[in-house]
Amino acid sequence: PKRTITPQETQEDSALEQTLRPQRLAEYIGQERVKTNLQILIEAARQRHEPLDHILLYGPPGLGKTTLATIVANEMGVNIKVTAGPAIERQGDLAAILTNLRQGDILFIDEIHRLSRAVEEILYPAMEDFVLDLIIGKGPSARNVRLKLPRFTVVGATTRLALLSSPLRDRFGVVQRLDFYDLPAMVQIVQRSARILGVQIDAEGAEEIARRARGTPRIANRLLKRVRDYAQVRADGVITRQVAQDALALLEIDELGLDDIDRRVLLTIIEKFDGGPVGLETIAAAISEESDTIMDVYEPYLLQLGFLERTPRGRVVTRRAYEHLGIPFNRDE
Ligand code: ADP
Repeated sequence: PKRTITPQETQEDSALEQTLRPQRLAEYIGQERVKTNLQILIEAARQRHEPLDHILLYGPPGLGKTTLATIVANEMGVNIKVTAGPAIERQGDLAAILTNLRQGDILFIDEIHRLSRAVEEILYPAMEDFVLDLIIGKGPSARNVRLKLPRFTVVGATTRLALLSSPLRDRFGVVQRLDFYDLPAMVQIVQRSARILGVQIDAEGAEEIARRARGTPRIANRLLKRVRDYAQVRADGVITRQVAQDALALLEIDELGLDDIDRRVLLTIIEKFDGGPVGLETIAAAISEESDTIMDVYEPYLLQLGFLERTPRGRVVTRRAYEHLGIPFNRDE
């Protein structure tokens, strides 16, 4: 089923995201620590007329990793080549990308934890010494060729730092974590997007959308779009608190931004497993979802809300979640 609030990019998002994506660091709302660190890095590299160190960005989907990579390229005045771990299947694919880079260019690799070992092996010397080691030919006549590459910068993004091999991780000079945005930042993001889209929205309407967007800009933009449709058809086009509430209720998104899949995850643990602890795989099987999807997409926000806890024996639903769902909590502690 299509999920309105999935933080992963959908096809429908891409056009919208191009229009809404901040282009400069000054336009990028929130993530102050990350922004300051990148600003210093960029300024220092520019002063020395050197390419940037390799940068690794990690955190849940939809928080602005791709956006930051683009901004870094803009601020440095260099080109960015965008690719993703699963798209680079063979060593030759990566070799083709690397040999087309120019001095200072940024190579953005999304889902970098999904690179194969073989591809990673080509990437190490490329990142470290800016060389490409190729084997030409087969059998006894095969020989090693070493090509020099221009000095470029890898910006890697991942939702799962733990899945990155340690040699790969060690090759990044800068590692930055992105967190869910706080409410004031989310409100600003909604207002900025509304301004760009020419949508009329009042302060309370913006807050209502911001509150339900799970601290995730991509979801905020998507909800704004849905609420805009509703405002146009059912109201006079202006997004107020009431309009936002009505529109989001129709989408079954509650006041904390949870939808029916989140509720199913929590209710399954409560009803079938007595509140937990229960293993991730078991939960995944019970609600017919991939365990990776639960871990990347649903769980981070439930953990953030304090509705779910990770214990060595599995996931446990907390008292807060029971209260939110209106279920009596009578588990012995
Ligand atoms: P990720 O790569 O982490 O999945 P993206 O960089 O694609 O996320 O961000 C998703 C969308 O959210 C972007 O298109 C952009 O419009 C919006 N966005 C992300 N971060 C910000 C921000 N700090 N300020 C404003 N909009 C943002």
